[in-house]
Amino acid sequence: MDNCLFCRIAKKEIPAKIAYEDEKFLAFEDIRPQAPVHLLLIPKRHITSLNEAPEGVEGLLGEALLRAREIAREKGIGTSGYRIVLNTARDSGQEVFHIHFHLLGGRRMTWPPG
Ligand code: 5GP
Ligand code: ZN
Repeated sequence: MDNCLFCRIAKKEIPAKIAYEDEKFLAFEDIRPQAPVHLLLIPKRHITSLNEAPEGVEGLLGEALLRAREIAREKGIGTSGYRIVLNTARDSGQEVFHIHFHLLGGRRMTWPPG
């Protein structure tokens, strides 16, 4: 999508600090990090949010979790632990309407989340 921020990052039209890339996914540093490790993992394919995800993307979304696990290992937080967040729609605080998984780690997380 032409006017989607994360599609534009995926197309390298807008710069980002890229941590991981393959043909289907991109992970880059969040511009306002909330933890020592705070990456955003996106499918390159535009999906607006989990609410808009069509049938047939379950494999892609499952793969995203396994990619996030690999990236967590590479970043050295695989054993210490990490949190994966998928904000969806208004009450979650979703700001960018291209589905993305937050990968957070490197500090002790609190619960409940804010
Ligand atoms: P959401 O609230 O939609 O789940 O999260 C969107 C995230 O994208 C926020 O954590 C925000 O800091 C991050 N973000 C917003 N604009 C940019 C940008 O231009 N570049 C990067 N790297 N992150 C961004
Ligand atoms: Zn997009």
